[in-house]
Amino acid sequence: MKLRPNAIGITRGQGALLFDEEGKSYIDAVSSWWVNLHGHAHPVIADAIYQQANTLAHCMFAGLTHEPAVAYAEQLLPLLPGTMSKVFYSDNGSCATEIAIKMALQVFHNRGAVRKTIVALEGSYHGDTFGAMAASSRGLFTAPFDDKLFQVVFIPVPTSDNAAVSLAALTKILATQDVAALIIEPLVQGAAGMQMHNAHALSALFKATHEHGAFVIADEVMTGFGRTGTLFACEQLTESPDMICLSKGITGGTLPLAITACSADVFDAFYTDDVTHAFYHGHSYTANPIACAAALASLKLLLSDESTTRRAYIETAHQRFAQEIRQNERIDNVRTCGTIIAMTIKTVGGNGYLSYERDRIYHYFLARGILLRPMGNVLYLIPPYCITHEQLQHIYQAIREFLESDSHADLPII
Ligand SMILES: *Cc1c(COP(=O)(O)O)cnc(C)c1O
Repeated sequence: MKLRPNAIGITRGQGALLFDEEGKSYIDAVSSWWVNLHGHAHPVIADAIYQQANTLAHCMFAGLTHEPAVAYAEQLLPLLPGTMSKVFYSDNGSCATEIAIKMALQVFHNRGAVRKTIVALEGSYHGDTFGAMAASSRGLFTAPFDDKLFQVVFIPVPTSDNAAVSLAALTKILATQDVAALIIEPLVQGAAGMQMHNAHALSALFKATHEHGAFVIADEVMTGFGRTGTLFACEQLTESPDMICLSKGITGGTLPLAITACSADVFDAFYTDDVTHAFYHGHSYTANPIACAAALASLKLLLSDESTTRRAYIETAHQRFAQEIRQNERIDNVRTCGTIIAMTIKTVGGNGYLSYERDRIYHYFLARGILLRPMGNVLYLIPPYCITHEQLQHIYQAIREFLESDSHADLPII
């Protein structure tokens, strides 16, 4: 609150734009924390929300069920990679991953087997609650709580260069510890700074995990719903996960909702006559009908030809722009995956989340009507799919100018 006192008052949104109290517009180049898919205040989703609020706004999801939750599960399951058989509703991405971890551990508990180790990737981010933090790499976000977090084994990220090292590390852990699950963000590690890895190498990790009878949890909270060029990132792999966590884009960026989908293998371990085998986890707003109605409307928009065309356009535009700026001496590691483009700005000082470059980048683009939220010295775009050609080209042009600007200029007053 002290260091960043001047939040911008936003009064409305339309398409890829947000408008502040003075009427100034900003292109939302990061989809408001990666959640918005089809644009702000989308009339189709708004109407679905209105209709549902007038019909059934909420009922508890225990002993009761309702059409929007059932319909969404029925429509989503066949679209998911692998053979997912059930969905478990919650209301945010941290819960979705925490639920997946609890499910994996309880499957073995219910089976009377001892398997307690969770394996994750270095640099991983799975959310901000304690279980999700435990599965996330230790650092700035977790430091005050590190002694309270359960132990997780971290392995190197399966990049093209590091495939063998990553697989060897996992194989060793699988051979020496009782692993319950491997949890990963497939293809793109979002909060790590949009770091990308190799589909083939990741598939090898899935395969090794399965050969040892452990589960793979795909945290697609960020990568889901078309971000990586396919509807879900795991479609690009040759092996399937056993659980998939979804949240950010699920309602098109309108209401909180999350899903942990699982295979029949996982579900069956809970489907017994023993009441102690139940999964005792429920949130007050689980499967909220209005959120489910928003998710149904968002899914329909996502599957439309128009959205598919828009995503293909963004992907091609990103690739072209990446090609153009790849050799620029001010940046490293220009990378794209589907509708995501990221680059690392070279700094003379510190790298990482607290890099001084962050504020410089943020204010440079804000002054040009573009809302970015760099992660340290990583500049990235993950725009709503409705972004127009002119808006996207305006952002690229601002990046070109930024790369030519004086990198040692004084920091702006925040
Ligand atoms: C954002 C994110 C989460 C946490 O989701 P919240 O809804 O913010 O709790 C978990 N995993 C990944 C990969 C994310 O990007």
